[in-house]
Amino acid sequence: MVDPQLPRIAMDDRLEGLFACVAEGNHTSAAAIRRRIEASGIRSDDPRLRSTSAALAAHGEGPIDRTAFRAIVAEELLLVDRILRQQLVIPDWPGFSRALALIHDRVAADRSGSNADYIPILRDADPETWGVAVCTVDGQRFERGDVHVHHSIQSVSKPLTYAHAIEREGLQFVHRHVGVEPSGRPFNALDLLPDQRPFNPCVNAGAIMVAGVVASGSPDRTALEITGDLMALWSGLCGGVGEVRFSEETMRCERATAHNNFAIAYLLQGRCGLPREVDLHKMLDLYLACCSIEMTASMLSVAAATLANGGVCPLSGDQVLSTEVVKKTLAVMQSAGMYDSAGLFTLEVGLPAKSGVAGAVLVVVPNLMGFATFSPRLDACGNSVRGVAFCRELVERFTFHVYDSLSGGRTGCKQDPRESGQLRRQRDLAALGWAYRHGDRHAVLVRELILQTMVDLCLADGAIEEPEIAAISAAHHAILALPLEPDEVRCLAAARQAAAALAGAPPPFEDLLARLRAEQTRLDDNVRELILEAAFRVACADGEIEAEEEHTMLRIAGALAIHPGVLELEILRFRNGALQV
Ligand code: GLU
Repeated sequence: MVDPQLPRIAMDDRLEGLFACVAEGNHTSAAAIRRRIEASGIRSDDPRLRSTSAALAAHGEGPIDRTAFRAIVAEELLLVDRILRQQLVIPDWPGFSRALALIHDRVAADRSGSNADYIPILRDADPETWGVAVCTVDGQRFERGDVHVHHSIQSVSKPLTYAHAIEREGLQFVHRHVGVEPSGRPFNALDLLPDQRPFNPCVNAGAIMVAGVVASGSPDRTALEITGDLMALWSGLCGGVGEVRFSEETMRCERATAHNNFAIAYLLQGRCGLPREVDLHKMLDLYLACCSIEMTASMLSVAAATLANGGVCPLSGDQVLSTEVVKKTLAVMQSAGMYDSAGLFTLEVGLPAKSGVAGAVLVVVPNLMGFATFSPRLDACGNSVRGVAFCRELVERFTFHVYDSLSGGRTGCKQDPRESGQLRRQRDLAALGWAYRHGDRHAVLVRELILQTMVDLCLADGAIEEPEIAAISAAHHAILALPLEPDEVRCLAAARQAAAALAGAPPPFEDLLARLRAEQTRLDDNVRELILEAAFRVACADGEIEAEEEHTMLRIAGALAIHPGVLELEILRFRNGALQV
């Protein structure tokens, strides 16, 4: 609660500005503040807002003036300041959440693949279960679908046991017993590296060996007691969200069917020896018990966010793992986390991830967010079909692939949710209009393409109408901050029609697409986006986007090498009223 001894300083400008974010005139309300917080993606039960939430509840629904406001938020001012000023790592949280929901719902249609069937509890799990949970490094959270279903984490446990091992025993000791090379072999294969170590901590042989390392470090404790340490580690990674459970039934079934894992353990013992000659059964029990830990997608998303945040849990602020350990863990996940398709996953998605046979996928977008998906149907490699599909679709729209950073401004106009789209646009527009007025060649070309795109779009269905001319002028002004005389539009339209009337000339719209295709290689993402936006503004000037217009827009996007998924998000934003044209 607020310290009554708090110095009674006056509202300074910054606090005044903060108050203005939620106030109408001299007052705000608890409901208004809560709405604003929730729109930012921060939960009202976020542990970092405990005192603010309590103070809001205590205040009740009456008006809140400046003095009360200051008292309510004082203890958590830094976080409240960032929330209310929309300065969290993903500023437009509602927009980003809509994109996530769209992808979640689309992926739900995929019913291919099948449950793991080697033990009844996995075979009988409801194959329709489908959930996605996201948590950013600032603790903004999104959840959709079945995110509160507890399921065994299976192989998702492997990178964490590895992290625990290197934190406790040091990299050198651990790597004396296990390698870090992708195996290119099934996860449960009995193959070893030429020096007889298992390939890496994500295949069974490596994970069993890592369990051996951990078990050997606590000679006086049972496998189940050590599992308790790992469960506590998971709980720390989740910032105490949800309950980390242990499934006795999974453990029993895993033990009963662990013939292959026993074969691996004996092979390890025979070929390279076990760490500190640990008991083989204790090692296997710890491995199987880690697979039998149960969590939910919601919890795993927070754990993934902790990894994305260098080991500091966004919700608790605790350093749960050292950043050095997290770096190593992510590197192993990146090269070996997705069973036999780790290479393809890195190529297509480019993010460190780990999947498990129960159907979970945990993915880390370093410095930005973590997410987890859960859907039991698996593909031929053992990865959740919907989980992988979600990752692919996400990375088609957003600049999350590790190598999106080297595209020199050219990612197919993928969005970067870290930036406020509006701010970036304002910055680009100001520079473009200014350069055009001074005669910059590139700016002149950009303006010409924008204008031609709008005119040819209107000519696509025949003649150009007066309201369309007005829409073009308005869009031109909005995008380039430059006036445009209606006569210039009429002249251009007449010239385009005359050119098209010449025998053999293509119709203006086809000619436009050809020109955009030819020019787009010289235009960066921002400019291509502006051209698309110009088309967009004209197409929806009448307040709606019809199917035919959508199709035309798709063709323009295609000519500009803009991914259709990006346009789809813009259309969605428009239909939700978030995009005003
Ligand atoms: N628990 C199973 C095993 O060790 C599979 C773990 C997994 O790949 O998710 O065979």
